[in-house]
Amino acid sequence: MEYIEQVLKSVKSSNPNETEFYQAVEEVLSSINQYLEINDKYQKNSIVERLVEPERQVIFRVPWLDDLGNVQVNRGFRIEFSSSLGPFKGGLRFHPSVNQSVVKFLGFEQVLKNALTGLPLGGGKGGADFNPKDKSDHEIMRFCQSYMTELFRHIGANTDVPAGDIGVGAREIGYLFGQYKRITNQFSGVLTGKPESLNGSSLRTEATGYGVAYFLSAMLDAKGDSLTGKRCLVSGAGNVALYLMKKLDEYDAVILSCSDSKGTLYSKNGLDVKLVMHLKSERGAELRDYLNEHKDAEFTPVNQYPSDGHQVWRYEADIVLPCATQNEITKDDAKALVENRCLTVCEGANMPTTPEAMKIFKEHNVYLGPSKAANAGGVATSQFEMAQNASMQKWQSEQVDEKLQQVMKSIFNTISVTAKQYSNEHDLVLGANIAGFERVADAMLKQGVV
Ligand code: NDP
Repeated sequence: MEYIEQVLKSVKSSNPNETEFYQAVEEVLSSINQYLEINDKYQKNSIVERLVEPERQVIFRVPWLDDLGNVQVNRGFRIEFSSSLGPFKGGLRFHPSVNQSVVKFLGFEQVLKNALTGLPLGGGKGGADFNPKDKSDHEIMRFCQSYMTELFRHIGANTDVPAGDIGVGAREIGYLFGQYKRITNQFSGVLTGKPESLNGSSLRTEATGYGVAYFLSAMLDAKGDSLTGKRCLVSGAGNVALYLMKKLDEYDAVILSCSDSKGTLYSKNGLDVKLVMHLKSERGAELRDYLNEHKDAEFTPVNQYPSDGHQVWRYEADIVLPCATQNEITKDDAKALVENRCLTVCEGANMPTTPEAMKIFKEHNVYLGPSKAANAGGVATSQFEMAQNASMQKWQSEQVDEKLQQVMKSIFNTISVTAKQYSNEHDLVLGANIAGFERVADAMLKQGVV
């Protein structure tokens, strides 16, 4: 049996029922298979076997009191995946769907993503199966305090530096930071994505979305094209999607759609991005309310989606930008996109494309910017926040934006050069997987068997 097949078999049997984790590992390992055959030092040193096994996994009880005085219990996670290149680094997700498999897939992807930034960052991820949506502000604060009461012993500015993800924004990071400071008596850079008044970096909130736009711009530039006038389908209407739409609007692209857990908003003439941002920031407002001001738009509720996928991918467009969650482009969504000649995809969400959809994209030469490269602007700006905190400095937003643009361009260059070396320069999935793996694996080799 081939080396990679053996490793995959072992990952499957030692992590039963962890489908998302296995999917992420399989996607990476099958794509770097040939590279591993040429470079047998990795096999000789069992680098792959070590890379797929997290350095440390913490699972803990998070008890908290709701507003009625009832005791509630959630499950908290922190997967410290790899510290080969620096402190563990990666976000926290608060969503009912969070489980060990989801956190491990995100952690594994994060290791390679952080490597691609070229910055000194290891990889990790965490979260809880807590739904912040139907909770009061006080309940969220009490939950965050309880979560940190366990997490604090595992993290530190030079050990493990969490940030936000789905369901965790500046408010949650602020509460987590407050509790960490209270327990440890340290005002340190232990978390990123902090509000600016707590030493957060300017542009951290915008960074992931802006970074996706900068990466997409580099993708098009490499083909002698640009974003001007391009018709874009965006999914999601959270942190990543909103700031991506804002930047695309500045680039004079036309945003046709966005979506949330309730449904899909579409306008063939292009959405009014300012209004969408306003609706999502207003408590109680919904995407559907957009129709009050723009009668020409359409809103499709989730219960009217096609049974085999998502409404947001069923329109004609030039560019596809999934920014909601994992596995949100199904096989039939991919078929519909290809039929509609949507042949450029840039992934804002982590692993948004199912393996079946990925296969269809490959067969039709879809130009695909993988998430571990395209959405790395958030973690890169988190590293800028760590640097500012460690040196007690505050960078202006222009400086952060310039550095963010440089990182995104450099990631694109690194992966397209690598792709060209091993296949063709437009195979950015291959380029990202090899370049990310190579940086982590070489650091592991130099550190001995640890
Ligand atoms: P948010 O919570 O801010 O927004 C997520 C959006 O996606 C919301 O509009 C939400 O709907 C929608 N959504 C989430 N889950 C589902 C689901 N199961 N079905 C339908 N819609 C869903 O999260 P982010 O924008 O921060 O994250 C989006 C993606 O980007 C994730 O994959 C995340 O891992 C990735 N990412 C985020 C980074 C960051 O810096 N924030 C960095 C790198 C990657 P609703 O509004 O109704 O809740």
